Amino acid sequence: MTMQPGFADLQLPDLSLSVGAAPLPEAGRYGLEDPCTGAIFADVPVAGADAVDAAVDAARRALADPSWRDLAPLARERLLHRLADAMESDLPRLAALEALDCGKPVALAEAVDIPAAIAWLRCYAGWPSKLAGRAGTLAATPGHYHVYSRREPVGVVAAITPWNFPLVLAMWKIAPALAAGCTLILKPAAETPLSALRLAELAREVGFPPGVFTVLTGDGATGGALAGHPGIAKVAFTGSTMTGRAILGASVPDFKRITLELGGKSPSIICADADLSLAIPQAAMGCFFNSGQVCYAGSVAHVHRSIYEQVLEGLAQVGASQTLGPSADRASQLGPLISARQKARVSGFVERAMAAGIARVGPQAAIPAQGHYVAPIVLRDVPHGAEIAREEVFGPVLAVTPFDDLDEVIARANDSAYGLAAHIWTRDLSTAHHAAARLEAGTVFANCIMLADPAFPFGGMKHSGLGRENGAEVLDAYLEPKTVVMAI
Ligand code: NAD
Repeated sequence: MTMQPGFADLQLPDLSLSVGAAPLPEAGRYGLEDPCTGAIFADVPVAGADAVDAAVDAARRALADPSWRDLAPLARERLLHRLADAMESDLPRLAALEALDCGKPVALAEAVDIPAAIAWLRCYAGWPSKLAGRAGTLAATPGHYHVYSRREPVGVVAAITPWNFPLVLAMWKIAPALAAGCTLILKPAAETPLSALRLAELAREVGFPPGVFTVLTGDGATGGALAGHPGIAKVAFTGSTMTGRAILGASVPDFKRITLELGGKSPSIICADADLSLAIPQAAMGCFFNSGQVCYAGSVAHVHRSIYEQVLEGLAQVGASQTLGPSADRASQLGPLISARQKARVSGFVERAMAAGIARVGPQAAIPAQGHYVAPIVLRDVPHGAEIAREEVFGPVLAVTPFDDLDEVIARANDSAYGLAAHIWTRDLSTAHHAAARLEAGTVFANCIMLADPAFPFGGMKHSGLGRENGAEVLDAYLEPKTVVMAI
């Protein structure tokens, strides 16, 4: 077990399976790898079918326990805020755990990941006291009735999450689910369980009853056992489109409620009238941020032919100027990819593109000798039908192509299996609104990138997902409406 030098003093969370203080059985252990060094630094338990059974049973009991079910809404809000307070006090440690686990720069985890997770929790912490149903009258039925609706927690939620923003994407599910009064079992990605395990410790410390929030570690087999368990009422999943399809299939026999946040191939359109001092760095970092491991990365850029060469050169320069380095180093701007497997996958896409005659632009940033680093890559004149223009790469690879006409490029952007996000840079408001209305994407960004917020829904059209997270809208995914009709 070798720890990255900069994290030598970092205290890992308790690496065991439990519900509250009660241990759960382990089906084995696996080594946790530091993507910056390739070294194994910890071993983590695998939750097998018996641990899944026990956790679901505890979550079902917690759902009906007066200590959770009958908590006054304001008391539930206070408990959620107490967890947010504990996260704030623990921010440096949570950030270090996140950085160590997924290889992202610790400064980024401190500035973005953990504050975002706290913001989501604070936002949904305000909801329990506002989840009222409504009273009304029957429309087609004569007589006297008192009719009202209740909004009840859907039941036990299984949250299954990926490794790119482990705590943030888990909190997108935890915060609304607990605000709605559900209980939740989180299965973080096998590669990145540490921040989730620390969050479970904090939840215990601030007084969440046992079984309300449980973390089960393991790989896809653990996720599959959880998602297919008949005691689970709702699955909230973020990950690949392929896994999302499997989870959707597994949800059918029990009619589980489901939200899926899946992959993307989000277009960036840079118009001739764009402010290039904004568009170039944003379009570049909209692809390269987090080393391209972002579901809504703008990974295919359509640039107006009149500014094509200038923009290409600018995009390549932004890529070449990035400092790639280990997560503990505060000078690092980009970290490695999560694993050797992901690096091989991303490199495979680039090699196939280049073998097909697609050229890469400009110099490249230096990469450290050790670790799963891939330097930002800009590819030019990428044909619309090319694999690299259509498939999600999930690495810092930007496919660039020229366009002449806005409606033609919108049609090209829409000719995709995905529909998560789309971006446009223009100084013309009419152009921006026209594109926003036409682009088939869950979010359209005009002159900006990567702004997800708990106030507005986020999610994908087509193969990018099902349902939406965030906004007031996501609460419906964790609540069952019940109508009560009372004869007077
Ligand atoms: P993945 O689908 O392999 O894994 C995601 C999670 O699902 C992990 O916890 C994994 O252990 C679990 N899992 C794997 N197989 C399973 C199964 N059969 N049943 C149940 N659970 C299973 O994805 P990944 O490789 O961890 O993440 C990368 C992918 O996630 C990319 O495609 C990316 O676009 C997508 N992603 C989407 C969003 C979004 O919000 N739309 C955000 C981040 C990542």
